[in-house]
Amino acid sequence: MTGAVPLGRRPIRRLTAETVEHIAAGEVVERPASVVKELVENALDAGATHVTIRVEGGGLERIEVADDGTGIPSEELELAVERHATSKIDPQGPVELIGTLGFRGEALAAIASVSRLRLLSRPPDREMGDGISVVGGTPAGRFVAPRAPGTTVEVEDLFFNTPARRKFLKSPPSEQVEVAQTLERTYLARPHVTLRFEAEGREVATYPATSELTDAAARVLGSEFLHGSFLAGGEVPGGRLHAALGRPPLAATSARGLHIAVNGRAVVSRPIQQAVRVAFGDYLPRTRFPVGVVHLDITPDRLDVNVHPTKREVRFTRERELADAVRVRVREALIGTPQVAELAENAGRSPAGLASWAAGRSTPGASVPESGAAGISASRQRTLEGVIPSGSVAEVPASPGHPRVVLLGCLQALYWVAEGDEGLVLIDQHAASERVLYETLRRERPIARQTLVEPVTLRLTGTQRSALLAHAPAVAQAGFEVEEFGPGTYCVRSVPSFSGRRARAEAVTEMLDELAAGGRPTMPDGLSERTAATLACHAAIRAGDVVSAGDFSRVLASLYALSESAYSCPHGRPIVLQIPRSRLDRWFLRSGP
Ligand code: ADP
Ligand code: MG
Repeated sequence: MTGAVPLGRRPIRRLTAETVEHIAAGEVVERPASVVKELVENALDAGATHVTIRVEGGGLERIEVADDGTGIPSEELELAVERHATSKIDPQGPVELIGTLGFRGEALAAIASVSRLRLLSRPPDREMGDGISVVGGTPAGRFVAPRAPGTTVEVEDLFFNTPARRKFLKSPPSEQVEVAQTLERTYLARPHVTLRFEAEGREVATYPATSELTDAAARVLGSEFLHGSFLAGGEVPGGRLHAALGRPPLAATSARGLHIAVNGRAVVSRPIQQAVRVAFGDYLPRTRFPVGVVHLDITPDRLDVNVHPTKREVRFTRERELADAVRVRVREALIGTPQVAELAENAGRSPAGLASWAAGRSTPGASVPESGAAGISASRQRTLEGVIPSGSVAEVPASPGHPRVVLLGCLQALYWVAEGDEGLVLIDQHAASERVLYETLRRERPIARQTLVEPVTLRLTGTQRSALLAHAPAVAQAGFEVEEFGPGTYCVRSVPSFSGRRARAEAVTEMLDELAAGGRPTMPDGLSERTAATLACHAAIRAGDVVSAGDFSRVLASLYALSESAYSCPHGRPIVLQIPRSRLDRWFLRSGP
C-alpha cells in the first residue's frame, strides 16, 4: 500500500513563508534545465542579443547566465528576487495581453529560495555592475564588480536546502542534456538571438542568431534540414504562420522533433502538432512524425499562456479554426515543394570514384543511344538483388541545378542506382517516368497519338459511355481514338504516344471514370490534372519493369528539362534521393578523401 497515512485530526495552521516559497519554487524550478529556461527568458525579455550559458555538474553545482540586455537598476535588485515583483506587467492592467516571456515575477525568487544566487547587473548608464547575493531566499549582502552592460545570474548548489528535490534528478550528464534541449527549444522559438552554451568550462554549442528559420532548424535538427526542408506560411485566423518543416524523408520516429513556438515562446500544443501531422497525411507512414519548427504569431487576445506555471502550454481560443488553417497551409506548401530529397550536409567535395564498387559498369563520357538500343532483354544479370543492364552505359549530362549522373544499376527493378557529381543518386523509376509523362501531357499540344497494331476491345459501363459521348473531344485530344464496336463494346485504335513502351488502352476507362465524376478541366483541351495524372501513371514505367539504359537516359534527361518544382511525381512522392559522398564517408568513418 502506498499513499497518505491518515494522521488523525490536527489543527489547521499557516505554513511558514519558507515552506510556501519552497512549494512555489517546486512549480517553477524542477531541475537545472528549468533554471536555465527562466534565466534565458529573462535575458530575452531584457532585449539581449547574446546570451552565454555556463553549467557545471549538469547545472547542479553551478549555472551562470550572462546577457547583454538592458540590465537592472541598482535600486531594484532586491525587488527582482522578491516574489510577485515584475517589471513586465502593469499591476492594474489585464494579465492576458502579455508580450514578454515572463510576467509572474516568480522565477528569480523561486530560484533564489532553493540555491545560492548572485545577481550582478549594469544598466548602460552605469560605470560598474551592482550585485546582490541571496542564500536560500535570504538576502546576504551586496557587492560591486566591473561588468559590461547587461546582467549575470549565478546559481550555485541548486536544491541545497531541499534535499528531497535532489533525489528526483538524473545524473549530471543527463541533466546537462536536459539543459541543452531547453536551449534548443528556446533558440528555435527565438532564433534571432545568439546562445552560447558551455559546460565544465568548454564550449558545447553555439546557436548563432539568424533570421532564417531553416538555418536555425538545421543547427538543431541536423544539416540535412538545409536541403531537405520546405517553408510553409501565411495568414491564419488571428495571426500568421511561419514554419520550416522537413520533407517526408526526414521524418522522425517520435513527435519530439516538431518544435512549436507561439509569439516567440516554445510551447506544447497537441492541436497544432496534430494539424501538422495530418497535413503530411499519407506522405508519412503511421510510424513517422514530421520534424521542424512552427512559428505562430497570434494576437494575445486569442490565447492564454497562463495555463501552466512554466508556461509550456498555451490555449487558443477557437482552437479548431486555427488548427485547420495550419493544416491547410502546411499541406499547400508540402504539395508545392520540390521533392528531391537529399541526405546532405553541405554538398561535399567532389567524389574520387564512387563507382569503384561498380567498376567497369560506368564509363564516364560514353554516350547513350537515344532510344532503348542498349536493351537488356538479351542478357540479364541479377546483381544488387535486382537487374543491372549488362554492359550498358547510361549517362545524363549535367544541366543547371542538376548533377551529371551515370547509371550504375537498378535495384530490384525499382530504384535506379546512379553516380552523380556529389555521390550516390537513387531514382524511383516509376515516379520519375510518371512525372515526365505527366508534364508531357500538360504541355504537349496536340498530344501525339500512336496507332495500335492490334486494337484493344473494351467493355464500357453506361456511365463511361455517357462520359465518352459528353467528352469525346477531350478523349480524342488526349490521344485516344475510341470507336463503338458493338453494344457496350468499344475498340481503342490509338493511344497517346507518350505511353511509349506500353500502350495502355485501359487508361481510357479511368479517364472516362474521372470525366464522369466531374474531374475539372483545369488544363487546356478539357483534360483535368487528375486525368493527366492517371494517364501518366498508367503509361509510366512501373516498379518491377525491367528497363534499358536508353529508358534511363531518356527519362532522366526529360526530368532534368523540367523545372525544379516538377521534381515530385504527380502524387507528390519524391523522385530522387541524393546521398553525398561526404555522407557516405561519415557513415564509413572515413576522414580523408
Ligand atoms: P518575471 O520575468 O516574471 O518578471 P522574474 O523573477 O524572472 O520575473 O524577474 C523579475 C524581474 O527582474 C523582471 O521583471 C525584470 O525586471 C528583472 N530581470 C530579471 N532578469 C533580468 C535580466 N536578465 N535583465 C534585466 N532584467 C531582469
Ligand atoms: Mg522571468
